Amino acid sequence: MEIWQSERLSAIPWLVHGTATRVFGSTRYPNEGETDRTQDKRDQFIRSLGLDPSRLVVSGNTHSNHLVSLPSYYTNLISPPNPNPNLVSPPNPNPNLVSPPFQGGVRGGYSLVPDCDGLISSSPNIILGTKTADCLPLFLVDPVSHTIAIAHAGWKGVMAGIAIEAVHTLARTSNAKLQGKKLSVNEKLSVNEILVAIGPSIGACHYAIRDDRRDEMLARTPFVLKKDFMPTSPNPSLAGGEAYLVDLRAIVIRQLVSYGISSSNIDVSAPCTACDPDTFASYFLSHDASQGMLSVIALK
Ligand SMILES: [Zn+2]
Repeated sequence: MEIWQSERLSAIPWLVHGTATRVFGSTRYPNEGETDRTQDKRDQFIRSLGLDPSRLVVSGNTHSNHLVSLPSYYTNLISPPNPNPNLVSPPNPNPNLVSPPFQGGVRGGYSLVPDCDGLISSSPNIILGTKTADCLPLFLVDPVSHTIAIAHAGWKGVMAGIAIEAVHTLARTSNAKLQGKKLSVNEKLSVNEILVAIGPSIGACHYAIRDDRRDEMLARTPFVLKKDFMPTSPNPSLAGGEAYLVDLRAIVIRQLVSYGISSSNIDVSAPCTACDPDTFASYFLSHDASQGMLSVIALK
C-alpha cells in the first residue's frame, strides 16, 4: 500500500483524499523553527494523488479543539489564478478586507495555519493537510455543499472535543455556502449526511496508558466511559507502568454520533499504525519525532 484511502470516501467522484504511508518516507511537515527535510516526499505524495503540491495548507497541530475555515479569498492569495497576465497583483475580491483573515504564512511549498488542529474549505483550489503518527486523522465531507474538513485528534484533542468542533464548523461553513447560493431550506445540510473517515491511527490493540491518564480522561469529559479501557496483560514492552489499553476511536465515534452523525457514515476501517509500523509511522513504537504521515483532502 502506498496511500491509505477510505473506501467510502474514494467512491465520491469529486473528492481526493489519502494518508501517505512510509513508502514515501516521512511526509511530516516541520514544527516552528525546524528545518524542512521532507518537502520532496510530501510533493511526491501529493502529485501521486494528481494534485498540485503548491496548494497545500496545513494545520499547526497544538492538541487543541480549534479549526479554521479557509475562505476562497485566502485560497486566491496562496496561488492566485491570474486571469490577466498584464495584471501584476491579483484583484482583491473584497477591497474592504485589508489583511488576510488569519496570520498564516507560506513556507517552502506549503502554507501553515498555526494554532489550530483542523481546516475547513469548500474551494477546489486548496488541499487541506494534517500530520500524524498514531493520532487520529479525521476526514469530514459534506456531500450536499461539497465542503470538506481535516482534523488532527490525539488524546488531548479528543478530550477537548476536536471531533465535535469539526462537525459544528463544517455544518456552519456548509450552510453559509448553501445560503450564499440561495438554495431552498430543503437543501440545507443535515448533520447526519456528513461522512467521516478515521485514518490510520493507533488502535485499542496498542494504545497503552498509565492509570493516571485514564483517571484524567474519565474526569475530563462524559464521552469517556470505563469500558473504553482494558487492563493490559503483563508485557515487557510496557516499561512505563502502562496499565490500560484505551480505545480512542470509540470515544471519537461516540462524540460524532451524539452530535448527529450517522454511525453508518463513519468509516473506521483504517488499520492500527502500531500493528504495521513498516507501513505507518508510529511514535508509540519508534519514539522518533522526525517520522510522521501527511493526510490530505481536496475537492477536484
Ligand atoms: Zn495495534
